[in-house]
Amino acid sequence: MPIYAYRCEACGFAKDVLQKISDPQLTVCPSCGKESFKKQVTAAGFQLKGSGWYVTDFRGGTPPATGTAPASTSDSAPAPAPAPAPAKTGGTGDT
Ligand SMILES: [Zn+2]
Repeated sequence: MPIYAYRCEACGFAKDVLQKISDPQLTVCPSCGKESFKKQVTAAGFQLKGSGWYVTDFRGGTPPATGTAPASTSDSAPAPAPAPAPAKTGGTGDT
């Protein structure tokens, strides 16, 4: 989907909107609420800018550690240990 560069003629609010070609153009400025939001007819709307990512719904993070110990009736098993701490990788063994 192309990215259209919109700009408000009333307050000067500019925004790049990612929308389909079949989608209707935006007219209402999200900044001032006036119907002076116009799509800029420039080639810049079709080329990706080198700086900046368009993160829409990216949720970074690590999954929760599930320390589920098997419920065994073995008497040799001590108290169930909690989830081990994440070990840092990168350091090689020194001997
Ligand atoms: Zn505006």
